[in-house]
This record gives sequence, structure tokens and C-alpha cells, in this order.
Amino acid sequence: MSRPLPRVDAWARPYWEAARDRRLLIQRCETCGRNIFYPRLECPHCGSHQLAWVEATGRGSIYSFSVVRSYAPSSFADLVPFVIAIVELEEGVRMMANVIDCDPEGLRCDLPVAVTYETITEEVTLPQFRPA
Ligand code: ZN
Repeated sequence: MSRPLPRVDAWARPYWEAARDRRLLIQRCETCGRNIFYPRLECPHCGSHQLAWVEATGRGSIYSFSVVRSYAPSSFADLVPFVIAIVELEEGVRMMANVIDCDPEGLRCDLPVAVTYETITEEVTLPQFRPA
């Protein structure tokens, strides 16, 4: 069973193309100046459509996480145990991703992490994180 893949919407294509190049893009609202993640057509803070792509450092820290130790039969069952986390980037936005290349028992909130990339298909590379 193959893992479900993110749908690559037209407005998010720059994000996915950058991920393939191992760069992490977020959006910045040119009207209110706030950073935004996930990719959108409209600023969630002020409603502006004037959004620019900016490259994030890829550095952040774990805001919250969960260690998945069992999973019903599915395409994820053979991945357990795995870590799903909310990572807060230095740019202030939070993103959900896996934390990989780690001992789940050694994780804690506020742990510094850095982006890494997992190539899934020719079109989809997932930004993931590992302890920094
Ligand atoms: Zn805005």
C-alpha cells in the first residue's frame, strides 16, 4: 500500500518545486508583513492577496509532538514508531512534519530542529525535520 501524497495545487506549486530543490519556502504578506504557512491564496491575517514567497532558514524548534507507536492497517503501519510534530520555524510560522533520524525518546518540546528532505516521488519531496 503506498502512502497518500499531498495534492499539489497550482498556487502551492512554488513550495513543492522549492522542496524538490531542497529549499523551504514560506509566504510573506506584502500588505501586513506577516509570515504565513501553509501556502494560501489570501493572507489569513488581513485578507490581502499580495503574497510573496520567501526562503525560510529551515531552522526551528519542536512546539509539540506525538510518537505514533501503533497504527491500523494502512500505508503508514510499517512506519511505526514515527514522530509527527508541530515545528515552529525561526520565521514564526508553525508547520506539521515528521521528525526523522532521531530517537523518539530523546525528543522534547523546544528541541532545536533543522529541515531535511524526504523524496517520495518525482513530483513530491517532503520537508521533514531532524534534531539540529
Ligand atoms: Zn496580511
